[in-house]
Amino acid sequence: MSSTVHGSVMSPGMEQLAGAVDCHVHACPHINARSVDALEATRAAAAAGMRGIGLMDNFANSAGLAALARRELAEPGVDVFGGLIMEPPAGGISAQAVRIALDYGYEPGDGARFVSLPTHHTRNIARLEQRSASYVEACLEIPERGALPDPLGEILDLVAEHDVVLNTGHVSGPEAVRLVELARTRGVERILVPASYMTPEEVRAITAGGAFAEFSFFFISHATQIGLTHVDAQRNVTPPVPLARMHELIGVATPARTVLSSDCGVYVLPPPVEGLREFVLMIASTGFDADDIRTMVDENPGRLFKVGNR
Ligand SMILES: [Zn+2]
Repeated sequence: MSSTVHGSVMSPGMEQLAGAVDCHVHACPHINARSVDALEATRAAAAAGMRGIGLMDNFANSAGLAALARRELAEPGVDVFGGLIMEPPAGGISAQAVRIALDYGYEPGDGARFVSLPTHHTRNIARLEQRSASYVEACLEIPERGALPDPLGEILDLVAEHDVVLNTGHVSGPEAVRLVELARTRGVERILVPASYMTPEEVRAITAGGAFAEFSFFFISHATQIGLTHVDAQRNVTPPVPLARMHELIGVATPARTVLSSDCGVYVLPPPVEGLREFVLMIASTGFDADDIRTMVDENPGRLFKVGNR
């Protein structure tokens, strides 16, 4: 049932978005169509009373666009932040690209608030996407033991020094568990692990290691039913995650160590605010109360990404 606020109809679940932070919004330019651009996403978040959004881009550091959106829309007060996904078009796994991203902007404090390992250029995803052997070979894999491949150690040190978020990207569960351990020993305090495909044991290991597990609307949505272009012309279908499985994994992580995000922006999904609203309702329906939801969609991402504390 919808309720009325200031004479306009409010959809169910909107009250849970007041103060929310969606750290996973794909509203930057892309090679496939978007539902909204970065400024539209910011205005929509402001209208919903949200505190922040994080722009993610597989092709470029998004901190500059985030800084522009924050300046342009200073009045609504949404804290828009960006960062670097170390995909090849964005400079790849390069300490120099990370160093630039961390300082990139118009003024101090504008720089990247997250550094992510590759998403699609991981051997884990390249194999799932049935890429060629030479393509897979050129992608990142975290070894089971021994030192990290260069220059990942240096990059982790930069992340620790700047106290920004390390996102483990789309490596496999066992690789993410090892990365969390190694990053912690190098002093990285803020770690976010996309966890929708992990086993309960892996989720337990990464959250016990001090990382947050991220679950996104995309994986339970109809976007998993069609092939989409992500980083090049090849269309790939993302395997769906049953809602019951997501519920189980959140139960293992506990709301205190969980971040919920939309991962919306692609044209077939609703715009990010609507995606997040639907997601929050779906997760709540599995048995999490309003306080749990607030922890996962507001408090945790807000603290992790230092929303409003620049
Ligand atoms: Zn994404």
